[in-house]
Order: sequence, then C-alpha cells, then structure tokens
Amino acid sequence: MADDTVFFILGGTGDLARKKLLPALARLIEKGKKIKAVYSLARSSREDWEKVACSFSSSAKALCKFMPFDVRSKESYQLLAKELSSLKGKKLIFYLALPPSLFEDAVRNLGIILRNFTNPRSIVIEKPFGYDLTSARKLNSLLKRYFVEEEIFRIDHFLGKDTVQNIFSLRFSNILFEGVWNRNFVDNVQILALEDTGVEGREGYYDSVGAVRDMLQNHLLQILTFTAMEPPCCMEQEAIRDEKVKLLKNLSFVSFVKGQYIGYPVKGSRTETFVLAKAYVDNLRWQDVPFYLMTGKKLARRLTQITVVFRKIPKGFMALLDCMPRQNRVVFQVSPESKIKISIELRPPNWNFMACPIETTIEHSTTQGVDTSPYETLLEDIMEGDQSLFIRDDEVEALWQKVEPLLQDTSPPLPYPQGVELPHFALEFLKNEQREWY
Ligand code: NDP
Repeated sequence: MADDTVFFILGGTGDLARKKLLPALARLIEKGKKIKAVYSLARSSREDWEKVACSFSSSAKALCKFMPFDVRSKESYQLLAKELSSLKGKKLIFYLALPPSLFEDAVRNLGIILRNFTNPRSIVIEKPFGYDLTSARKLNSLLKRYFVEEEIFRIDHFLGKDTVQNIFSLRFSNILFEGVWNRNFVDNVQILALEDTGVEGREGYYDSVGAVRDMLQNHLLQILTFTAMEPPCCMEQEAIRDEKVKLLKNLSFVSFVKGQYIGYPVKGSRTETFVLAKAYVDNLRWQDVPFYLMTGKKLARRLTQITVVFRKIPKGFMALLDCMPRQNRVVFQVSPESKIKISIELRPPNWNFMACPIETTIEHSTTQGVDTSPYETLLEDIMEGDQSLFIRDDEVEALWQKVEPLLQDTSPPLPYPQGVELPHFALEFLKNEQREWY
C-alpha cells in the first residue's frame, strides 16, 4: 500500500459523502490506515459537512478538511493545483461523488492539472457510468485521455457487500456447491432487489433514469456475474474481470415487463419503477436456465436476495407421497439482513420416508466476524490499487449493450398498487413459466 494517501471527494458535502464515504474514511483512519488527509470539495453547504465531521473521533476530525470548489471554475483548479504542490509523493485519490452531469468536466479538468504532477493517482467514478452505451463509451474514451485503466475505479457498492462476495466464496471454495452449480442441477436463478420506498424527494433525477438504469444495468447484473461466472484461473484482478466479461458476452434478455406504482409523483411519465426481466446465459454451464432479475419500488418490503433454485425430484419416484418435496434452494440475502440460507428436505421424526423442508441459516456474523460497510471495503481496495471488485472499461460497455433492448422499449409501464408483495403481472409472469417466487 502506498504510504500516505490523500482523498479528494468532489461533491464532498452531498448525500453519498456525508452518509457513506466520510464515515467509512473516518473508520479507516481509526483503524490506522495510512490516510494523510481527506478533502471535501464543494461549492457551499459547509454546515452540513461540519456536522458530519464533528461526529468523528479526534484523529479522524484532524485529517478532514473542507475546500470550496466549483467543478466548472478554472480558479478552483488553480487552488487545487496549489494544494497538490504541497503533497509531493503522496498517493492522490479523486472520488467523483458529483451529479453525473459534472463527471466529464471533472475528469477533463483534473486530467489537465495532474499532467504537472508525478504523484501516483486514482480516479473513482460513481454510478451511473453513462446513460446508455454511447455515453458510456464517450466517458470511457475521455477518461483514457487522461488516466490509464489501472487508475480508473468504476464503483458499484453492491460488490463491497459481504453477502455478494460470499457468492464467490461459497461457489469457488466448496466443491459441494460448485459441483451442482450448473444446468444439470439448477432450475432457475432469481435475483431480486425490492424496495418499500418510492422516489419522493428524488423524482427529478429518478424520472430521467428509471429502474433499468438505476438498478438492473448495474447492481443486479453485477450480482448475476458473480452468481454465474466461470471460476477464474487465479485470484488476480484481471482474471476475475475477464470471466465477468466473458459471461456477459453470452447473456441475453429474452423477455421483460415494466411497471410503475400508482401515485408515482411525475404526471404522465412513462418511467418504470419496476422491472422484471428474464435472461439466458448461452454457455455450456447455463444453457436453458432462466435468470429472473426483478427490482421495484413501493412494494411491501425491502429485500435484496439471490436464490438459486435447484431442479425438482422426479415425480414418478415420489408418486405415492401426499406432497412433493420442495425444490432445494441456496439463498443469499443481502438485505435487510446479511445471511445465507440453504433449504433441504429431511424426514421428520416418526414419518416414514416423508420429507419436510428444513432451512439452515448461516448468519453473516458467523462467517465474517465484524460487519464492515461496503464503502469501507471498497475504499481500502482503492488505496491498495486492487481493482478486482471494480468494473473494467469493456465490462461497463458490455453491461450497457445487454440492457439496450430494455431501454429501447417505449411501451407504457403497467400500473401496480403501492404496498403489494409483488405486482400481479410479476406473479403472472412466473406462473406462465410454471415456476414460483421464493
Ligand atoms: P447530492 O446531490 O446529494 O450531492 C452532490 C454534491 O456535488 C454536493 O456536495 C454538491 O455540493 C456537489 N456539487 C454540485 N455541483 C457542483 C459543482 N458545480 N462544483 C462542485 N461541487 C458540486 O448527490 P449524491 O451525494 O446523492 O450523489 C453523488 C453521486 O453518487 C451521484 O453520481 C449518484 O448517482 C452517486 N450515488 C449516490 C448514492 C447515494 O447513496 N446518495 C449511492 C450510489 C451512487 P454543492 O452544491 O454545495 O456544490
């Protein structure tokens, strides 16, 4: 790890910085990580930032600074360059926690001033990385004009979550599971991110984006790659990222349905607040196994989970039993609680040959010990220059390419009432597939 890292958070007074980044950096400082300073850059709103900084321990507080800065002003970059002159040899990390409309300005102007410095540097870009394939390509080529790929960290905080990383560990560290993780044993895979909240307060932003761009293109597809990728040849970052890209090349969406909750605050809008999409991965491992990706707002509960549903027991063999055994499942619950559940069928006492579902739960705390926030994990990776959990240029383009058919669909979203477990059309969708939601 480079000695002494300096963080510059552009947009350092915003929601993300105050709620996630600054608290995570404060914890890293308290853990003794070599952070020399954390600069929060923004035009105003210093008061909100001070309230957050004040809550830190004295060691963290001492390293956090505020710097007035306008991404679009030349003078701001001159002042920043002056500050950089006093940081010789330090590793510089520029975190763009900005409205996406400012990413290009920030990349270009930072790139220009950094030409005068030899410090090791990284640039971190939050989602959304582009608005579609064309804009993502444009942002990639702009980044490459000023930075090399090893310096670019495209972040998706879902990959910092312990349960998501545990998909990888469970699969590739246990022959018990890896042996059945394929089309011979798996019937379908369900990846859900359900929310009970709506878009209130962010409708301006959300209405221009929708559920496909906000959740499916990034978080859900990232989870899918971890669930379905081939084992990498080794645990090197490029080997892992190569496998994710390879998988995406074989993925295609075959059908989907979009919805909007009744009472959505933007009148006349066709923006979807719900999407359910079915994908196939056309390779030897997954041919004909459907992957159902579903995300929606204003539903009955908050739940993010991945369920791998195994095939049914043959009917003939079980014909004399009153009820068929349920399908085995491995469930990775990301939220509200972090845990892994395995559903199997076992005989209850005194029942001849009959099987009953039993669920074994592995609590996250048992596997990991201390809970670490995803941002803490990812910020530490950035300091170490480890890009395994970050999205490469070709991957981000492959992700956009795959969702293009969903983005091009202009049909109006189907209405659904607020507070339902699942919209009726989502239930219908799976019923028509002769499957059920778990
Ligand atoms: P906010 O609107 O809360 O914050 C934006 C920040 O940018 C503020 O600090 C604002 O300060 C600053 N800013 C705006 N214009 C300028 C400018 N011209 N020059 C300098 N600073 C400017 O946004 P969020 O924090 O919610 O989101 C930031 C990014 O992170 C977005 O890309 C978002 O998609 C992404 N993201 C956010 C998540 C979250 O939990 N909030 C989760 C995942 C991703 P000021 O106006 O004072 O200059």
